[in-house]
Amino acid sequence: MLEDRLKSVIRDIPDFPQPGIVFKDITPVLKDQELSSAIVDELAKRLEGMEIDAIAGVESRGFLFGMMLANKLGIPFIPIRKQGKLPAKTIAESYKLEYGQATIEIHEDAFVPGSRILIHDDLLATGGTVVAASKLVEKLEGVVVGYAFIISLDFLHSLGRLTRFSDNIIALAR
Ligand code: AMP
Repeated sequence: MLEDRLKSVIRDIPDFPQPGIVFKDITPVLKDQELSSAIVDELAKRLEGMEIDAIAGVESRGFLFGMMLANKLGIPFIPIRKQGKLPAKTIAESYKLEYGQATIEIHEDAFVPGSRILIHDDLLATGGTVVAASKLVEKLEGVVVGYAFIISLDFLHSLGRLTRFSDNIIALAR
């Protein structure tokens, strides 16, 4: 099963980047071409029938599978980046992380108003990152049609924070 394979390949790194955090390291997944393809295929399958205009992925690990998924679906990929990284005109949103605080940005012209956007990140922890990403999408008058994660740390009870935008939440492993 894909979930079992993911759980055996994703590494737990205790106390990174600070004491008390168990960091889920997906870099071993990236070395496994077959598993990486299986991830993209499974996400594409689960999104079948949904009307999606673009995938928005959050820096930096959300770029890896977000771009592959967008390419597989034949739709644009939109990068949501940390403050100061996107070169053209942006809008910003600040939020709290499981560890620390952050601001993310999206290009003002990332998509046309009314676009149906699926938000992707590698991992869902507190939900703060994708809630901020959702606010950026809504500020640009886009519609958040769902979320796709590789792994969701459900013990943090973050799913409820997302359902006010969309209850279409896919996670390949929990
Ligand atoms: P959150 O905003 O709390 O849902 O955190 C999600 C973002 O932070 C994602 O971009 C993750 O890559 C990263 N992140 C948070 N917690 C972890 C963790 N325990 N292991 C790996 N990445 C994490």
